[in-house]
Amino acid sequence: MVTSDYERQDGNEELWYQVFAKGHPLLAGKQRRFSLLPGNPRCKLCMAPLGGMGGWLMRLRHISRSERNPTYCNTCDGFLEAFPGGAEVPISMMMIDIRDSVGLSARNSPREFARLVGGMREDVMEILRKTDGFVLEFQGDSVFAVWPPGFVGETHASKAVTAAEEAVQRFARLNSDASNADASKVAVGMGVHTGQVFVGTVCAAAGRLNGISAFGLDVNLVARLASAASAGEALVTHSTYSSAGRDASASELRVLELKGIEGEVSAVVLGGGTAEATHQSP
Ligand SMILES: [Zn+2]
Repeated sequence: MVTSDYERQDGNEELWYQVFAKGHPLLAGKQRRFSLLPGNPRCKLCMAPLGGMGGWLMRLRHISRSERNPTYCNTCDGFLEAFPGGAEVPISMMMIDIRDSVGLSARNSPREFARLVGGMREDVMEILRKTDGFVLEFQGDSVFAVWPPGFVGETHASKAVTAAEEAVQRFARLNSDASNADASKVAVGMGVHTGQVFVGTVCAAAGRLNGISAFGLDVNLVARLASAASAGEALVTHSTYSSAGRDASASELRVLELKGIEGEVSAVVLGGGTAEATHQSP
């Protein structure tokens, strides 16, 4: 599961509610300004470029990659340490993972497998940059991204669905490319859902690493949706698809029973639909 290695921290609820649900004027201003500067990777919170030309400009302002917590800048890392905690917020999420990664690793050398997983992450990152998504977690061969309303505004569901639509198209294109050897074709499955989630800081057992993670039944739901999706598919909960302003009447609907989730979940199916798509059991 997404957050098993970390312990959730409580506190500073009002501050974190403002950050994730409403938007903190200081942080939102930084995110807007910093995303205009070139350079990757970026701080996961304020979007400050940590590499390239933008990273160089940032270092002139004493903002650089945190040594303790390298996916954040030193300023944001200091903020996480000073204000541990989180809040419950409605948030849109996408989980994307590689189908049959065991088979993929068997068909390729370890080095080639690492390159393919890295390539999949790069493709996903590019889509997230275009749709304002934030990566909350990279884990093995999956990516968990979020669109908090405090970062991206009220259209968070629409942005998450757009990201899934783009990912479906991109991976379909890559896999139909004849120059791409069969052995190195990467099939992904995705889940998209908006739900009430506790988002906040976490620490590892030693109390050293402060990152941001998400907790709650809806986080599990999106992970289950991703595993229920066939190769090349994105499953978007019906409610999320509607709040994204999309019309589901012309789409394929699938009713799912997901492990650990009470009742049936109705999801819109994006992409896939090929006879040879293999269904993976979770
Ligand atoms: Zn930062």
